[in-house]
Formats: sequence, structure tokens, C-alpha cells
Amino acid sequence: MSEKERLGFETCAIHTGQQPERETGAVVTPVHLTSTYVHDAPGAHRGYEYTRSGNPTRTAFEECLASLERGSRGFAFASGTQASATLMQLLKVGDHVVCCDDMYGGTHRMFEQVYTRFGLSFSYADLTDPACFDEFVRDETAMVWLESPSNPLMKLVDITAIAERARARGVLVVVDNTFLSPYFQQPLALGADLVMHSTTKYIGGHSDLVGGAVVAKNEELAERVAFLSNATGGAQSPFDAYLCLRSLKTLAVRMQAHERSATAIARYLCSHPGVKRVYYPGLPEHPQFELAMRQSSGHGGTLSFEMDADLEEICRALSRFELFTLAESLGGVESLVEHPGLMTHASMPAELRESVGIGDGLVRMSVGLETLDDLIADIDQALAG
Ligand SMILES: *Cc1c(COP(=O)(O)O)cnc(C)c1O
Repeated sequence: MSEKERLGFETCAIHTGQQPERETGAVVTPVHLTSTYVHDAPGAHRGYEYTRSGNPTRTAFEECLASLERGSRGFAFASGTQASATLMQLLKVGDHVVCCDDMYGGTHRMFEQVYTRFGLSFSYADLTDPACFDEFVRDETAMVWLESPSNPLMKLVDITAIAERARARGVLVVVDNTFLSPYFQQPLALGADLVMHSTTKYIGGHSDLVGGAVVAKNEELAERVAFLSNATGGAQSPFDAYLCLRSLKTLAVRMQAHERSATAIARYLCSHPGVKRVYYPGLPEHPQFELAMRQSSGHGGTLSFEMDADLEEICRALSRFELFTLAESLGGVESLVEHPGLMTHASMPAELRESVGIGDGLVRMSVGLETLDDLIADIDQALAG
């Protein structure tokens, strides 16, 4: 473990991988907009040859993120989906993946509509009970894909318990850590092998980029991901890597503020007569509150709730929001509201959606950093109709 990794989270976020630039002394890591690099003699380069394989701005972000996730190395990709696709390329024809059943809709679509055509197979299990993993695991199982909290039902999986079961069978454990970010949850320390992010969300944090990342626990896995990133070409552009690096510096304070407001809004919704149920792991009423307290140091800024109304009424309520923007995505400074059934999870087959509990009444919110009283007033007027 390097000296930097023993420093605090905020210190690493602001300094790791980000020494002042040697030539000019610039304190902020420059955006290295170049595709290629000079060789001092044929074959003698200075560490970089071509930006698909490596770029100093991207390296700075990758080193910083790896230190925050306490991993061996990080990799930045053009999108969260590209990060997931690259992890699928670790597998081979015939391999099987056990996934949590309530997962990001786009990941499900990629698994089912793309990677099944390449000879992979997937099972979707309610892994809130870790024993469920044993029911679904097969001899061909090579990977388990976890999201905790899950999207949009905020179900948790006990990462340590699943990782123990997986390790005993040589199964790789991947955790999509998009919802909590390394500020609140560090899956590698809980036993995962690989962490994946959509940096579009909290890591980017300002809704101005699309990006993804992978952090590998050890050098062996890091080498395989590095090879795939270069060989299949999904690495992030230097400019987007610069934006991600810039955003990491404020991740801690943003996550604290997102959580403070999300907790207050979750409590407010619990007492609202038009709301049947609130899904937020930070509420003592959450069925896995004890696990939430043990596994992560906070619960993030995203929550869902079930409205006591029919679809038409819900659509009208969603259109009445003024401050919350009706839009997909999450994790930015501005608050967003959306209907998973009609929006983010529309690509999931209706049957599967209903069976896992993503019904017509479900609404998801990404609580931003606006003044809390203004957000509550907006929810109040939108749900009043
Ligand atoms: C958004 C998201 C993704 C996909 O990331 P993109 O950056 O949109 O490609 C994957 N997982 C989760 C949990 C997400 O929220």
C-alpha cells in the first residue's frame, strides 16, 4: 500500500495522481489533447505511445479513482456501459453469470441482447438472500454481477457473504458501485474482485459527461482489463477524464450533501398520504437497514417510492414538477425525477419488471444539491394534485 493510500479519502481525491506538471508547474493536471506521442528513438517513448492505450490526463484520473476504491489499478471508459462490456470480454463462450435480478436496465439489455449471442448465459437471482447464489451457481459460472443498492428498488446484497461463496468456487465478483460511489462503499475491501462505475452519475456529478470506470483488486486482473481496454478501444477521452478528475475533488462534500437531503426527503415521503412505500436504505424501516449500516458508511442521494395512484395520475404528477427535472440519469447537482417503468427500465421485459417489483406506481428521484426546503415544496405541490 502506498503512502497516499493511507491518507484520508478527501486528501487522496485532491492529490493522488495529481502532482504539479513538471514543465510549467501548473497545479491542475492539464488536458492532454493528443492522439500520439514522440519517440526519442524508434521504440524509445516516454511512457505514452497512443491515446487509445494511454493518456496522462486519463492516467491521473485512473490513479486517483483506484486509490479511492483501494484497488490496484483503475481504468476509465467512454461510458459505464462500455466499462461493463469490457468486463464481459473477460469471459469466454460457455461461461455463465449470476446477476442480481433488479439491475440497471441497460446492463440487462446488453447481457441479454448482445452477450447471449456470443455464447454467454445469465441468470437473475434475488441475491438479497446470499444463499440464493448457491441455487443459481453452476459449474460454468465464471462471474457474479452485483449492484448494491440496486436500481431502482434500493435492495442490498451482502457483498461479503456473496464474495465468500463466490471465492470458494473461483467465481469473479463484480460490483456496480455507481449508486454509492467509493465515498460511501468500497466493494474491494468487502471481497469483490472488480468494481465498476458509471462515472456519468455521482463521480462526474454535474450531468455534463458520459463515462465509466473499472477498478481491479489486483495486478493480474488489472493486466487483463488493460489489455482489453486497448484491444477493444473503449477508453475515455482525455477531456472527459479531466472532467471526472476535477469532479473527484468534491466527491466527498457532494455525497454528504446528497445524502443529507435524500434522507430528509425520504422521511418527508414516508409521511405523505399519497405515498404507499419509500425505498431508501438509510431509513430504519428498510428491510435491510442493518446490512446498510454495516456495509456502507452512507446511503447516497437516490431513492424510489410507490405512489398510491394510477398510471395516468402519476404521469400528471410527474409533469407538475418544476424544480425536479423529469429526466433519466442520477447523481448530478440538479434534482431529477423519473418513472422507471416508462423510462430507465422500459427496455426490461414487462414481465420481468413486474415480477421484481418495478410496477406502474414506482417513481425514482435523484436528490440534487438545491436548497432542501425548495425541493420539498416542489414535491409537495407536484403530489398535491
Ligand atoms: C447509468 C448506469 C449504468 C450505465 O452507465 P452509462 O454511463 O449510462 O453507460 C450502469 N449502472 C448503473 C447503476 C447506472 O446507473
